[in-house]
Amino acid sequence: MSMKLDHYIAGHSVPPHSGQYFDNFAPGTGEKIGVVAAGDARDIDDAVRAAQAAFAEWRDRKPIERGRIMMDIARAIRAHSAHLSALESLETGKPAWQSPLEIEVAAQYFEFYGGLVNAIHGDVINIGAGYHSFTRREPYGVVGAILPWNAPLNQTARATAPALAAGNVVVAKPSEETSATTVELARICVEECGLPAGIFNVVLGTGKSAGASLVEHPLVRKVAFTGSVRAGREVGRIAAERIIPLTLELGGKSPNIVFDDADMAIAVPGSAKAFVLNAGQICLAGTRCLVQENVHDEFLAGLAKAVAATTVGPEADSIVGSITTKAQYERVQSYYDLARAEGAKAVVGGTVLDPDKAKGGWYVTPTVYTGVTSDMRIAREEIFGPVAAVIPFKDEEDAIRIANDTEYGLAAGIWTQNLSRALRVAARLEAGQIYVNEYQSGGVETPLGGYKQSGYGREKGLEALHHYTQLKCVTIKL
Ligand code: NAD
Repeated sequence: MSMKLDHYIAGHSVPPHSGQYFDNFAPGTGEKIGVVAAGDARDIDDAVRAAQAAFAEWRDRKPIERGRIMMDIARAIRAHSAHLSALESLETGKPAWQSPLEIEVAAQYFEFYGGLVNAIHGDVINIGAGYHSFTRREPYGVVGAILPWNAPLNQTARATAPALAAGNVVVAKPSEETSATTVELARICVEECGLPAGIFNVVLGTGKSAGASLVEHPLVRKVAFTGSVRAGREVGRIAAERIIPLTLELGGKSPNIVFDDADMAIAVPGSAKAFVLNAGQICLAGTRCLVQENVHDEFLAGLAKAVAATTVGPEADSIVGSITTKAQYERVQSYYDLARAEGAKAVVGGTVLDPDKAKGGWYVTPTVYTGVTSDMRIAREEIFGPVAAVIPFKDEEDAIRIANDTEYGLAAGIWTQNLSRALRVAARLEAGQIYVNEYQSGGVETPLGGYKQSGYGREKGLEALHHYTQLKCVTIKL
């Protein structure tokens, strides 16, 4: 199979101005699967201008008509689930069972925001008799969405659906490693669901070229960026220079806190899942497992057993698939060396998968380290692989102190049967999403975003709509 991916601009598949393509590999096998257009500022300019030309008509449409198209998109995503899932697994290395679940979430974003189009409204403000004052929520215009490789279609839908619902138009720049499903989604929206051409465009290419050009383009009025802190900082600099609003969804090193009164029958498997799913390539992953010292040994034995039983490999039913990029595969391994050098001990994992089982793919084994303190780099840096550090704590105060001892603040888990404790701790954790007694609960409805260096702005839920609209206040003297 050889796949050639081009941009999707104004309802057409368009080759890059440069004529250049780069190779694309299947992480599950390490084999080349095709080529991807190397977009640059010229392609971005075409896409942004196409979007700008389509903006007024989309903005001025009855919201309910926008919503109807979005419902049709949700249905079409579900109808194409098998095809989209196969593409997603091919490019990301996700096991075959996992991609359909993520494609379903992508459909739900369109359904959720499609149903909310009429909830985007302002307020009437009483400033006394003789005046009528009210607010309007208006779209920005062209929104640039820059996306990572760990959940490509899900994240494209997460940024695109609320933007479109609010009457914006979109130019998406997926990760250069995982572009296929984003292009396919744009095609489905325009060619099968009646979304007018130009409203949703996709430009492929690297972050430094296509990505940076998108943020720099003078007609782009808002950017939604999901990715690393490093790239987020560069995007933030350009956005600050241009004075455009930015949503930054960045990395995490999230604490998963297990108290001694936790129900271990759910806390142990739940804590394993918290960092192994998607081969640990989840921004929210609970990779710092903080355990109360009087249950530490019992918990660790259970966790090691659960993690050791996690199946890894190219089989369709493996719990853990491959790491999505070669660079990331190597980066995860570099942390095995670092952990050894820092004096941590792997109670399970700490290796790549046996080459006979990996069959050329980029697989690593889920890993649990002990002997870790909060100041070590393996406890501070986002590894973005299935690697957890277990750190003991004394009491509630100590747990909160260690949990917040990080520059990140995306998510946190709490395992306890004491509701008052759960609420007390949740209130003091510096993180945007908190889960109690189940890690990573929530859906398209629950707002997501970072504290500290995990970013700012919020995606998902009603909250995201506010980030894709700007407020205008109109006051009339009667
Ligand atoms: P990355 O930062 O390398 O790339 C993300 C996107 O930004 C890609 O499309 C890339 O091409 C683009 N990019 C890179 N440099 C750029 C630049 N200078 N200007 C403009 N665009 C640029 O991240 P990644 O490796 O693809 O993804 C992994 C990271 O994403 C992890 O840190 C993870 O935690 C984070 N992430 C966060 C969330 C969240 O919701 N908070 C979700 C998923 C992933």
